[in-house]
Order: sequence, then structure tokens, then C-alpha cells
Amino acid sequence: MNKQTINDLSDAQVRGKRALVRVDFNVPLEHGRVADDTRIRAALPTIRALLDRGVRVILLSHLGRPKGKPEPKYSLEPVAARLDELLPNEHVVFVESTDTDEAIKATHDPANRVVLLENTRFLGGEETNDERLARGLAELGDFYVNDAFGSAHRAHASTEGVARYLQPAVAGLLMQKELDYLGRALENPHHPFVAVLGGAKISGKIDVIEQLLPKVDHLVIGGAMACTFFKAMGLETGKSLVESDRVDMAKELLARGGDKLVLPTDATVAPSLDAPQSAQAVPRDAIPADQAMFDVGPKSAAEFARIISGAKTVLWNGPMGVFETKPFDAGTRAVAEALAAATGKDATTIVGGGDSAAAVADLGLEDKMSHVSTGGGASLEFLEGKVLPGVAALDDKR
Ligand code: ADP
Ligand code: MG
Repeated sequence: MNKQTINDLSDAQVRGKRALVRVDFNVPLEHGRVADDTRIRAALPTIRALLDRGVRVILLSHLGRPKGKPEPKYSLEPVAARLDELLPNEHVVFVESTDTDEAIKATHDPANRVVLLENTRFLGGEETNDERLARGLAELGDFYVNDAFGSAHRAHASTEGVARYLQPAVAGLLMQKELDYLGRALENPHHPFVAVLGGAKISGKIDVIEQLLPKVDHLVIGGAMACTFFKAMGLETGKSLVESDRVDMAKELLARGGDKLVLPTDATVAPSLDAPQSAQAVPRDAIPADQAMFDVGPKSAAEFARIISGAKTVLWNGPMGVFETKPFDAGTRAVAEALAAATGKDATTIVGGGDSAAAVADLGLEDKMSHVSTGGGASLEFLEGKVLPGVAALDDKR
């Protein structure tokens, strides 16, 4: 990675200082408690590394979509409570006030080693990347660390603007890990390199297909996306989710992709999602006109798994079917298990995309992947080849 990280800063630069750390604590809440603390735990290596070096840590995050003013249901207070549990030797100070002067005061108390400030989206100017807000935020620390990969595709005051007024501005360890894994897959993958794409819509992933097609050895397509390709091949797709305005594009990709494109050869279909008991596997040229494809079929799942098992790098984005409803989770499970097995055989396996990551977590296979990205939208934009503003704003390596 060509950006500086906290490891590039010398002890003289950091000891006794305040690190303003933008994290992604945008976690689901239930009954005033954190329902899933994955993102909080993902930030712990950076927080601990800074504390170990005698740095005081001032944390900034957004949560949900409040509109520039305080909304109690989006308060980070439950997150502070959870973080406090995850850092047993520290007392996490939560600053409820959104008044910048009060926040600055809290950061100057030497007793406060870990401070979490209230939701950045309670502040007018966060999402418009207001310069005055960015300058105000810059006073909360002596240097800036961005560890919020999941927010790096947005140029907000706490992710981009602040880095213009607070230096050094460097990446945290999670940010570094995300950029290293995703960057290596795009720039320097070990071959065979297999990309597996699925999910609901081809339209949301067309730029990813374009970016990956010249780089991969195999591009495996599942999910509803496959149905648009079926349509392009002149097959009956019944009631399946097809994007009719993308059929021509799918035709063009089929012609260009040649043997690299791997499409399902069979489909698991049903009259509707409410009738999973009627699910059956059919060849792809026998999808009944009154039914829809909700998953890749068992033959396809086995073939996908075989291709994955021969790979040295696997990048997976998008479930193979409606994995939320059994039995349409079978294709997604087969792919997840194939990735897990490939990791065990020294392949680098990377999962991007919110729903794919959730599927992997449901299956308890997170630890069996080389890397599960914490940023859905950000990982997609990165894979499309876009510059992430929150990354671009950080200091280049010297
Ligand atoms: P990710 O978040 O991993 O990038 P997407 O958001 O692109 O994935 O797609 C996930 C959604 O795609 C899931 O909600 C899943 O139910 C849906 N999906 C997958 N296959 C199909 C299908 N054959 N028909 C309808 N929806 C599908
Ligand atoms: Mg999604």
C-alpha cells in the first residue's frame, strides 16, 4: 500500500499525543444494545496498538442515517458500553455533547485514554464535508488515523476533510489490511485467480465485472445476475429476476468473456419464495415459465466448488441465491465452504459485500477466510477501480 500507516509513525511523533481515529462503528442496535459487535472488534488492533505506544485515542464514527442533528436512537452510547467491555483495562469515556469545545476539553484531560465522541452525523456539515466542521474536528487530535474502511468511499468531514487540517494523516491497521488484500487481488494476484460474483443485480456490479474480467482466469456468475445472462442466451427465465435493460450488455459480455465466464448449468426453481417446499433442480434450459430461479442448482454448485478448489486467489462478492430462505441457501453454502477449503490449501480467499459477509458469518466460516471485508459499498467501489476519497486524503508513503 502506498499510504502511511500508524506503523510508519515514530515514537517521538506519537508518544503522549492524542490520535483522532475515525472508525466504522456503524453497528446494528437492538433494544439499546449492540446486536453485532464485529465492526467494533475489527477496530481493536488499531486502538490497542496506539494505547500500547502511550497514545490517547479519540474515536469518531457515524451510526445510521440521522440527518445532521441529534436523534437519540442513533446515539453511540451503547457502542461506548460495548467497547468498554472489549477493553477490560480501560475506561471508555463517552462524550454525549456535540459541542466541539466540550469535546475538545474531554480530549485534553490526560486521564482520558479512550474517548468516544457522539455520532458524527449528528453534526451539520459532516456529510457535506463542510470546511469549518473539518477544521473543528482537526482540533480533537494531534494526528489523524483513518481506520474506517467501510466509510472511505464517502468524502465526509470526518473521513476526508479533517485529513486536510490534521497531519500526520495515516491509515489504521484495519484500513491497511483491507487495502492490502483487495489491492493485491487487483494488482498482483496469484493465479489461478477466480472471481465469484452473485447477488441481486448485474447493474450494481457491471463495473466490477469490467474491472475483473481482464485479470481473472475464471469469472463465476451466480445469483439473480445469472438470469440476465440466461435471457441473453435466449433461455426461458420464467418469473426470475431479470434486468431487461441489461440483456444486451450481458450478450456483449458473453461474447467478450468467452471461456472465462462460468455460468450455472442448472437452477433451483420454485413457483415463489413462499413455496420453498416445491423447490426443484432443473437444467438451465428447462426453467418453467411460471417459476423463478432462486439459487444455482446442485450441479452448478459442485462445478463452482471444483473451480474454486483449484484457485490460488478467490474473490467472492454476492450470494449465489436467496440465501436468506432455505433451501435456496445451498449454492451460497457450497461456495462458502469451497472458499474455506481453499484457504486451507494456501489460497488467498477474500469476501466482499455486505450480504456475502453476512452469509459467511451465519455459516460460522469467517475465520476460515483470508479476509472478510468490513466495507460493503467501499469494497465494491474499490473493486470497480475507483479512488476512495478517505484513502486518497491520507499521507503517501515516503
Ligand atoms: P452483497 O451485499 O454481498 O454485495 P448483493 O447485495 O448484491 O450482495 O445481493 C444480495 C441479495 O441478492 C440477497 O438479498 C439475495 O437474496 C439476492 N439474490 C441472490 N440470488 C437471487 C435470485 N436468484 N433471485 C432473487 N434474489 C437473489
Ligand atoms: Mg447487499
